[in-house]
Amino acid sequence: MRRLENRTAIITGAGRGIGRGIAECFLKEGANIIIADCNQEEGFKTQEELRQQSENVYFIQTDVKSEDSIKNMVNRTVDIFERIDILVNNAGITVFETLENATIEDWDNLINIDLRGPFLCSKHVLPYMKKQKKGSIINISSNHAVATLPDTEIYAAAKGGVNAMTRSLALSLGRYGIRVNAICPGFTDTPHYRQWLEDSNNKERVEREVKNLHALKTYCTPEDIGNLAVYLGTEEAGMMTGENIVLDGGVAARLYHSKYC
Ligand code: NAD
Repeated sequence: MRRLENRTAIITGAGRGIGRGIAECFLKEGANIIIADCNQEEGFKTQEELRQQSENVYFIQTDVKSEDSIKNMVNRTVDIFERIDILVNNAGITVFETLENATIEDWDNLINIDLRGPFLCSKHVLPYMKKQKKGSIINISSNHAVATLPDTEIYAAAKGGVNAMTRSLALSLGRYGIRVNAICPGFTDTPHYRQWLEDSNNKERVEREVKNLHALKTYCTPEDIGNLAVYLGTEEAGMMTGENIVLDGGVAARLYHSKYC
């Protein structure tokens, strides 16, 4: 018996990157998968590629900024698989911009995707998880929720909000057998991360420096995040709730960065 056999998981933003990595790990463990992504092209491509492993993968185009779109996705999930066991709130964007240049549109867009999205998705899966008296909500936060950098105010505020919301939701939903946890990844090799490297003025140097920040001298892969998400989705994590787990290869363990240590 695989660890997620007969479980249904909604993964937002699973068209690519960390969300896709989580979907692949869940699929290996036998889960039914809903890819809830706003990007139609990436969503269908991922659906077709993952269907080579299992037929139980469906892409439902979803914009987590829109409550109607989320409601439609949840209703269709239940039509297809008749249950919802795991919600992974992964869809997210970043804005790295100075306070002078950041706009109210940047604020609204990021907060609506990265913070309001997880709130609304959790709200709309709740009736089904409540009926089943069981469920696991996994929020993909960031190490920026714990310690951050200049010019990341909006992203850091959203992810800090996700961590705080995770704790409160865990307290609210524990009585229904629903567990809520957050994974706070560090640098993770995704298209988004690759683009950030490309945009830097010296890709090779930046990549070398990034790796050097890590105790393990390399950054995470989407599969690393997926493996932890699998654990949080299973009964092995039956007493795990309200946790914000940093998964960053040891970046946050260091007191400060110096060429001497
Ligand atoms: P990515 O840009 O590679 O993929 C994000 C996916 O989310 C895309 O498929 C995109 O289409 C989808 N998406 C964006 N807006 C959406 C919306 N409104 N509705 C539905 N889907 C939407 O990003 P990634 O690097 O895989 O990041 C995934 C999550 O992990 C994000 O929440 C991000 O903040 C977090 N994270 C990433 C890193 C990293 O280094 N890559 C580190 C820490 C946290």
